[in-house]
Amino acid sequence: MDVIRLLPDSVANQIAAGEVIQRPASCLKELVENSLDAGAHTIRVLIRDAGKSLIQVIDDGVGMSVSDARMAFERHATSKIREAQDLFHLRTMGFRGEALPSICAVAQVKMTTRRAGDEMGTLLEINGSQVQKQEPCQCAVGTSIQVQNLFFNVPARRRFLKSDQTELRNLITTFQHIALVYPEVAFTFVSDDEIIYDLPTGTYKQRIESIFGKSKSKLFTSQLLEIEQQTELVTIRGFVGKPEAANKQAQQFFFVNGRYMRHPYFHKAVLQAYAGMLPAEQLPPYFIYFEIAPEQIDVNVHPTKTEIKFADEQSIFPILMATVRAALGKFNVVPSIDFLGGDIEIPVSDEKMRAGAKAPELHLSAGYNPFTPQRDNSSVHKDNTYAPQKERVAPHWQELYEPLCRQPQQEELSANWNQSALHPQALAGGYISCATDNGLIIVHARRAHITILYAQLIEQLQSQHGVSQQLLFPEQLTLSAEDQPVLASLMPDLKHIGFELEQTAANQYDITALPSLLTNHNAETAIRAILTRAADGQTAVREQMQHQIALTLAQSAAIPMGKTLSETEMQDLVERLFALPSYRITPDGKTVVIWLTTEDIARRF
Ligand code: ADP
Ligand code: MG
Repeated sequence: MDVIRLLPDSVANQIAAGEVIQRPASCLKELVENSLDAGAHTIRVLIRDAGKSLIQVIDDGVGMSVSDARMAFERHATSKIREAQDLFHLRTMGFRGEALPSICAVAQVKMTTRRAGDEMGTLLEINGSQVQKQEPCQCAVGTSIQVQNLFFNVPARRRFLKSDQTELRNLITTFQHIALVYPEVAFTFVSDDEIIYDLPTGTYKQRIESIFGKSKSKLFTSQLLEIEQQTELVTIRGFVGKPEAANKQAQQFFFVNGRYMRHPYFHKAVLQAYAGMLPAEQLPPYFIYFEIAPEQIDVNVHPTKTEIKFADEQSIFPILMATVRAALGKFNVVPSIDFLGGDIEIPVSDEKMRAGAKAPELHLSAGYNPFTPQRDNSSVHKDNTYAPQKERVAPHWQELYEPLCRQPQQEELSANWNQSALHPQALAGGYISCATDNGLIIVHARRAHITILYAQLIEQLQSQHGVSQQLLFPEQLTLSAEDQPVLASLMPDLKHIGFELEQTAANQYDITALPSLLTNHNAETAIRAILTRAADGQTAVREQMQHQIALTLAQSAAIPMGKTLSETEMQDLVERLFALPSYRITPDGKTVVIWLTTEDIARRF
């Protein structure tokens, strides 16, 4: 007797539902994506009991005809692709034709839908794949789908759901992932009659603000820098946090072609761009949108998975890193022209953003130093007045930004300032002030020194060419049993940076040489400080370990706060500081320089 038979559709759908619809959030995602595919301008989400009693999505999209309404719930029924080839050119969110049949297999679904040209809409009720009712109805143009009692017929699934709090959080995260990519669509999200989000249409930046800018005191987006890079392969746009915006639970989002994705490899590229700028264990927020030819990515992944494979990840990595670094570089070098992502609201409409309006090109190289006179003085007239170099800036960019930029000051600065004109002066308390033609720079001397030393030490660690100084009388170091393995793991880096240690007993070492930067310091204290830091830091990560070593040594070797410096020492300190590619904050995230422009000063009177 044959034993193989085809499963009835309702059973097949229930099995498929297990794959596509795992929890309320996956149901919400499918419904909202359908609304977007239907061209909705406004999408309303209503949730009850964390989606366990109700998930409803109401849109003003194209709606469906009577027969499409019925077809939509059949398996593999889709209006979005016709043949396999279409999979490689997808521009819609959905394409499998799996979501609606899956949802109706495991819930009680009620849909009303109407197209603009139709007088009457269609009402459809389906319980666990069984059509209960189909009739004409009065309803608004668009589609409303109510999903009630999710998993009512799959008790095992229902029990498997997490607490309301967790499921609601999942719903909100899913909603955010979508809302962040469609600022041109208005969204509301209501949970148990409480309005969680009411998001008007606007720019990407405004959307980010309306989702995350909870604190009234400061604009969240004022802590973000705009990034933009267009290459043959990929276009990268979005926002990255200024170093001081970093925190332990930063908002970090990647999107590709309008879809949220996780991408640990690209995440690394972003973090590398921040190397040395962030305090330990702090992460920068970022919102990065990739646009790439659809055939370059594999969308054919599982519907609930957010990892997306790129054909050419290796090439995108350095582009991404350079793009982020450039934004940070501009910010670091010339804080007074921080209009890129600064406190001024930039009116980039999303059409313009989408149409590829170019971000300003500031033409600053990584080693750009505002205090070195520029060779090319073409923009400076004989009488030293400044003529803006209009041709440098793309014309459509100017339309967008010109009203906001008082002066493109960086060229003015570089043309008018030079180091000899800096005249560093000591301020009481350990600060150095430098008057410039454009205002005043105040430098925190100790932090400046830490930043300089740190950069040198990291350089030595990485090139493995630390400069040593032999000790006449070796210093003894006795370690506890716990410190022993920590020291062992640090040993290669300690050697690279210039320490020499000889083991004399099981837990005893002679320090015979130390980094020449530390000559006036106690080697034993320095190593103990490193051990303490390393023991409670993440010593598993090599860079983290090097960061800890360099930071500890820089802090112990730097001049103390309040130390009186000679004029030459101040000059030297300031010159070395401003020669660094990034000098605004210390490696552990503290402010090194304050910049008061003449305007800032005038504003204070
Ligand atoms: P897919 O989105 O993969 O095509 P779904 O099962 O999610 O599959 O939807 C099936 C079809 O139902 C879609 O292709 C679309 O034609 C139609 N549809 C679903 N939701 C809507 C909606 N909100 N507005 C208009 N049409 C919709
Ligand atoms: Mg769909």
